[in-house]
Amino acid sequence: MNFDYDLFVLGAGSGGVRASRISASYGAKVAVAESMFLGGTCVNVGCVPKKLFVYGSHFHEDFADAKNYGWQVEAGEFDWPVLRDNKTREIERLNGIYANLLDGAGVELFEGHAQLVDANTIKIGDKTVTAKYILVATGGWPVVPDIPGKEYIITSNEAFYLPEFPKEITIVGGGYIAVEFAGIFAGLGAKTTLVYRGSMFLRGFDDSVRSFVKDEIEKKGINLRFETNVTAIEKITGDDDAVRYQLDLTTGEQLHTDLVLYATGRKPKTANLGLEQAGVALGDNGQVLIDDYYKTSVDNIFAIGDVTDRIQLTPVAIEEGMCIANNLFTDNPKKHLDYRNIATAVFCQPNIGTVGLTEAEALVDHTGDLDIFESRFKPMKHTISGRDEGTFLKMIVRRSDDVVLGIHMVGPDSGEIIQGLAVAMVAGATKAQFDATVGIHPTAAEEFVTLRSITRGA
Ligand code: FAD
Ligand code: NDP
Repeated sequence: MNFDYDLFVLGAGSGGVRASRISASYGAKVAVAESMFLGGTCVNVGCVPKKLFVYGSHFHEDFADAKNYGWQVEAGEFDWPVLRDNKTREIERLNGIYANLLDGAGVELFEGHAQLVDANTIKIGDKTVTAKYILVATGGWPVVPDIPGKEYIITSNEAFYLPEFPKEITIVGGGYIAVEFAGIFAGLGAKTTLVYRGSMFLRGFDDSVRSFVKDEIEKKGINLRFETNVTAIEKITGDDDAVRYQLDLTTGEQLHTDLVLYATGRKPKTANLGLEQAGVALGDNGQVLIDDYYKTSVDNIFAIGDVTDRIQLTPVAIEEGMCIANNLFTDNPKKHLDYRNIATAVFCQPNIGTVGLTEAEALVDHTGDLDIFESRFKPMKHTISGRDEGTFLKMIVRRSDDVVLGIHMVGPDSGEIIQGLAVAMVAGATKAQFDATVGIHPTAAEEFVTLRSITRGA
């Protein structure tokens, strides 16, 4: 049977763009549909604008830290529209680059919402096309709980485009987005409260990292309310008739704030895609179910990235896109990602960088066979600046064969440092090999090759 395309991709985000471009480079005839913004979540309302805001929010500390170094500068007024609009211009520039990349690769772009009619037919507005293979890369969307007043909630999507910067903000959630945005808003000058339902935020991260970050975040004046949730939100009027919100808390207290940001997770974007019609099986959270090689329950339909509700990170979606192109359009052996040792960073302040197992995870199979190395210190910069901010490093080693199972860091540029160490982890490095590595002095990272004394066995 003749099809219009070899591959049709739903969604021009991190995964979809990479799968399209690389498939086209292997000679496939490829089209991609995008309903909202080229580059997807990461470029438009995720990693990129978030990191720009993180940079922006750090300046007030830099101004303060400069004083003891002899620079008598005062932080002026923060001008939100300048940061917001410069960020938007950069995103628009990136949107253009993505359009050129697709065009240059010979990928045809359909602007609009794409839907499957059957396993080989896709409808985009009033156009209908056919494809031999279909790739679902439609990403995810923020979810908020169904509570009275939920219409007043904003999510990370809106946070990037606020008409006005709030004096006070309450952030609900305890994952990546909640802690990153708490740092951003506090750094830019908002009185910030973070409400988390559990006893310690950042579930899934190493426990020592979580408690270290909690202490550092509290030192920055962010009000952390753990074991607390919001049951209702009401609009009230503040001074000068300004709109404010009253939050009813599970503790029986009430909290007043200018803005309520929920970061309570994201749900795969699979509604109105015609997936059921095409016979694609979905999981309980609406995610597309796939096998080890990203194949759905329908032989010619594949899915990658956030829509599969596994590890929601841009480099993961991109690498999965590379695998798809390889598996469908080359004779090379089929590939899938090795999901162990995927490094990640949380751009809270200071940053978290992590790769490999947490201590709790390592204990599952290796209790009694672990050596834990930890180091807490004041970064050299703050010996003069006077800032009370610590750095934390941790390494988890399997005693019987000396293999490093996990590396964790909280401190400036942890993401940059852990990226390099992730290569060593993937290569199966031992503690002896770390010890045999000569450090770079003076850096915080050199501590990872000079961790001599075991903090404790586990
Ligand atoms: P997306 O990038 O979401 O792309 C999906 C695309 O499909 C979207 O453009 C969407 O409009 C389009 N689409 C959906 N339905 C249709 C349809 N029916 N027809 C046509 N098009 C459709 N990850 C990191 O690694 N590092 C970070 O620092 C980081 N920061 C983040 C910060 C925030 C605030 C958020 C929300 C996420 C962040 N992430 C980060 C996660 C990262 O953005 C995602 O994991 C990544 O974008 C997933 O890529 P994807 O291709 O699966 O989906
Ligand atoms: P996460 O899944 O990381 O965190 C969701 C948080 O919301 C958890 O703390 C969860 O609590 C809490 N929560 C869930 N439901 C409720 C509820 N009904 N009431 C109160 N709290 C609730 O999601 P995020 O939205 O923070 O981020 C989505 C994903 O995007 C991340 O998992 C990550 O993969 C990706 N991302 C990556 C970034 C990076 O790489 N730096 C940055 C930002 C996002 P509990 O722990 O108790 O379940």
